Amino acid sequence: MKIEDGLHLVLSGGAGFDLSDAFDCNVFMIAAGDQWLLFDSGAGRNPERLSEILAEDGIDPAAIRHLFVTHGHADHSGGAADLRERLRLTTYAGAATAKMVEAGDEVAISLDRARQAGVYPADYRYRACAIDTVVEPGRPLAVGPVTIELIETPGHSFDHASYLVTTPTRRILVGGDALFWGGKVAIQDIYDCNIGAVCATVRTLAAVDFDTLLPGHLNFSLRDARRHADAAMDYVARLACPPSIIV
Ligand SMILES: [Zn+2]
Repeated sequence: MKIEDGLHLVLSGGAGFDLSDAFDCNVFMIAAGDQWLLFDSGAGRNPERLSEILAEDGIDPAAIRHLFVTHGHADHSGGAADLRERLRLTTYAGAATAKMVEAGDEVAISLDRARQAGVYPADYRYRACAIDTVVEPGRPLAVGPVTIELIETPGHSFDHASYLVTTPTRRILVGGDALFWGGKVAIQDIYDCNIGAVCATVRTLAAVDFDTLLPGHLNFSLRDARRHADAAMDYVARLACPPSIIV
């Protein structure tokens, strides 16, 4: 689904826009010159769907070269292995995420708990994926006219990272599950979620200069998107935790 020139939503599940498999997070594609950057992979339950959407959008799959992963949870990284093989992508993640995704450790990514709780189907299995480049915070990468900077944003999960993507026209926060529309966060009763870290991450993001928010679920925001970080900060400044999208 084309949002505007150079920005597409290519997968999105039930906690989003119902474009693809119900378990997919929002997967965005951002143009970097004549290449495309993909952010997160979805759960990988219906790998053919991306091809259909790219065809509908008029995108040549060969132009998609890079996949950045925000964190190891299956709805964000479960499709990475298939996409890496199918599209011959170079994969990127922070160090902690890379370790979990490469190991395919279903306990480390809380998939065991999520399956038991019925959040994922009983037959869902995670596929490990090689991460080609570990991205260091504070060391932006450049692809054509675009820079991509990893920001450590733990809390929703201890390995969570967001990406600040600076294009010729936008400063985009690809927020994964760290920050959502209206200043919400994503809190779950799983070992890798830490409320103190969630609030510290809100403080981190409230200090970042961005104008566009592309979160892992629900609405994206194309204008004045810092207001969503400010809304979360209003809670944190009062020592409260922002409301969670998971209820
Ligand atoms: Zn998550």
